[in-house]
Amino acid sequence: MSSLPCEVYTFLRKKCRALLLLYLNALTFLSLPLPFFWPPPILSLSVSTEKGDFIALDLGGSNFRILRVRVSHEKKQTVQMESQIYDTPEDIMHGSGTRLFDHVAECLGDFMEKHSIKDKKLPVGFTFSFPCQQTKLDESYLITWTKRFKASGVEGMDVVKLLNKAIKKRGDYDADIMAVVNDTVGTMMTCGFDDQRCEVGIIIGTGTNACYMEELRHIDLVEGDEGRMCVNTEWGAFGDDGRLEDIRTEFDREIDRGSINPGKQLFEKMVSGMYMGELVRLILVKMAREVTPYTALHLNVLFIKYVLLDEFLPSLLLYLQVCAIVSFRSANLIAATLSAILKRLKENRGVARLRTTVGIDGSLYARRLHKTVRRLVPDSDVRFLLSESGSGKGAAMVTAVAYRLAEQSRQIAQILSEFRLTTEQLLEVTRERSTQDSATVKMLPTFVQSTPDGSENGDFLALDLGGTNFRVLMVKIRSGKRRTVEMHNKIYAIPLEVMQGTGEELFDHIVQCISDFLDYMGMKNARLPLGFTFSFPCRQTKLDAGILVTWTKGFKATDCEGEDVVGLLREAIKRREEFELDVVAIVNDTVGTMMTCAYEEPTCEVGLIAGTGSNACYMEEMKNIEMIEGDEGQMCVNMEWGAFGDNGCLDDIRTEYDRSVDDFSLNPGKQRYEKMCSGMYLGEIVRNILIDMTKKGFLFRGQISETLKTRGIFETKFLSQIESDRLALLQVRSILQHLGLDSSCDDSIIVKEVCGAVSRRAAQLCGAGMAAVVDKIRENRGLDHLDITVGVDGTLYKLHPHFSRIMHQTVNELAPQCNVNFLLSEDGSGKGAALITAVGCRLRQELNSK
Ligand code: ADP
Ligand code: MG
Repeated sequence: MSSLPCEVYTFLRKKCRALLLLYLNALTFLSLPLPFFWPPPILSLSVSTEKGDFIALDLGGSNFRILRVRVSHEKKQTVQMESQIYDTPEDIMHGSGTRLFDHVAECLGDFMEKHSIKDKKLPVGFTFSFPCQQTKLDESYLITWTKRFKASGVEGMDVVKLLNKAIKKRGDYDADIMAVVNDTVGTMMTCGFDDQRCEVGIIIGTGTNACYMEELRHIDLVEGDEGRMCVNTEWGAFGDDGRLEDIRTEFDREIDRGSINPGKQLFEKMVSGMYMGELVRLILVKMAREVTPYTALHLNVLFIKYVLLDEFLPSLLLYLQVCAIVSFRSANLIAATLSAILKRLKENRGVARLRTTVGIDGSLYARRLHKTVRRLVPDSDVRFLLSESGSGKGAAMVTAVAYRLAEQSRQIAQILSEFRLTTEQLLEVTRERSTQDSATVKMLPTFVQSTPDGSENGDFLALDLGGTNFRVLMVKIRSGKRRTVEMHNKIYAIPLEVMQGTGEELFDHIVQCISDFLDYMGMKNARLPLGFTFSFPCRQTKLDAGILVTWTKGFKATDCEGEDVVGLLREAIKRREEFELDVVAIVNDTVGTMMTCAYEEPTCEVGLIAGTGSNACYMEEMKNIEMIEGDEGQMCVNMEWGAFGDNGCLDDIRTEYDRSVDDFSLNPGKQRYEKMCSGMYLGEIVRNILIDMTKKGFLFRGQISETLKTRGIFETKFLSQIESDRLALLQVRSILQHLGLDSSCDDSIIVKEVCGAVSRRAAQLCGAGMAAVVDKIRENRGLDHLDITVGVDGTLYKLHPHFSRIMHQTVNELAPQCNVNFLLSEDGSGKGAALITAVGCRLRQELNSK
């Protein structure tokens, strides 16, 4: 009679075999993982540097525990824990949710009281070991109660909110719940503390569950496709869809029927501690019933008393055998599902041999697990690591990481908040801008007194100097009914040593390029009229004379400042003795842009450049231009607004990064506004912020690479690329990697934020300046409402994904009485220069014929 009735024995054994085979193929349960919100970088890296004082609540295991965990970081990292177990009476577990959370809050209050920390607001980690839909680290919606819990009104609710409410209601202490953690995750984190390779956590206790690090690209519910996130599998519910029916036994069904959640957690009911004893009992009862009435009675008595009465050895052996079989099945089942996870990890990593560590809470099956896992995933070296009080310590670990991340993002937000300008600040910029016109900001007359009228005609040469490229253009303008403008141009490089060499070298180089172009066009003998787009501040005395006030942007050639650049050009042409040209006009690019747009759209009376530099011009009333005699009509004024703020009026909104960019520029202290909003500087501002954030340890693992130290490496075009909405994080990362910046997924997110803050401010500042201009024109004309068009040129405006939109919005906000239409100029510096030259030629003829 000591042997098992072979019916039961073979039944269970056979089922176990079938089961292993089934599980080999049952990898599909991984297809519906619930995400546990976890920031993607390899967590063990983060864990090992945490420190601080934390509280952990552990609800959902056999006991409700509260722990205080102190992690210190001197020489060696140590974790100090004190914990207390609190009773959770049945009537509370099954009562109302409010009562349950009141109870938790009360216990927490008691704990804090005892530890005299009631006045502190310590970060709290909440181990809540039930299936939850987690949307953030600190937001977690209970899907369904499992195990012994059944409190009403909690399913579907955010448990953090419920707990916070209960704490607030008491009002005697404050708590900062940073993270909800599943016990599996806690286990993985705790083991990860000792073994960085740990990427799976499993629990075999009252219930059973597992989590593992999954690739973000496989998690549909969470945005982003790079890095990993810990996924809570809730494998206890495996089989609830009927997939386990083949291997469930009549005993399993009976247990399910008698449970508080029939039909649910079927896998858990086959393997976890809460049901094991009952399973053994049911089997023994059945055996007893079916063998003989005598044995049945005998067994039942034995079953209850076997611990006390060990004299009936055969019966005890029988009992132990049943226990062994039940736990054997349980271990195999867990090994099979665990193997599915391990296979997934192996696939994700694409390695021939998987080397990993599984953190495990519940030592019950370690040996058996090992053996079966080795059979099912042969190409693997799996280490099982027992966690010591994973759910408590782990929660503290997660909380510590969350706390550090929260603190970090708070500091990042603070850095970037300096770049966030309020409407009031922007209005102030607008006001400053409009009151300063004559005093500190150069308002340079351009001698352009009217916009084109369509009668312009002829062939013109144009030069465009002052941006990224130097260009020579041939522009053929035809008037009449079928107005056309035809252009040919060639781009020439200006080597840095020429830009920053002597003036003579610079102008000789320019004339050399013109010579090449005339050869190319076959027009060397034509003595063409020429318009010279020279995009630097010039004090003009006539249309064809302009004294360079100061170089800006990347130029620094000697002997030019204070000189008439038309004169310098004419001299260089003479020096070459090869061809002649008629230099008719010197043109600022803003004016060229305005003229080009005005040629198509007569309401265009403002020109704006948002490219390498930043500048604007507009049609001003002659009576307001003090430097020029005459009160009649209008003249276009080159605002040279890039120099706005050079008197210190922008210092309140300039950041340390702006100052640093300024300090290392060619013209320190000058063009302060331009340095906050134009293409030449935005990337450099970003680079400076990135360096600072790296120094503070928020980026690139705190390592400032040589690349990052290189001035100018971060070009403004990268802002455009990084900020593009169509770009996935992966691509952002590849851009950064291309730049030699080895970034993680988190780094990419932060870099994108930084770029956004810098370009947004640039667009807003530019918009504030524009609002001042259009409002000035409106006031000049004594109008309540002004309709006006602004001609715009510049690659920053054209190619940045958000700059133009934000600038438009800002203008609308700050100048509500103006309706501003923005018109993109097509090659303002070339076409515009030709148009101005044409007007100049016409005026000259009119003068001569008088
Ligand atoms: P310029 O102002 O020199 O006449 P552009 O209007 O073409 O010429 O502006 C060139 C500047 O635009 C470059 O110096 C660079 O700072 C910036 N830039 C270039 N590409 C982009 C881009 N894709 N997005 C934003 N800015 C860019
Ligand atoms: Mg330009």
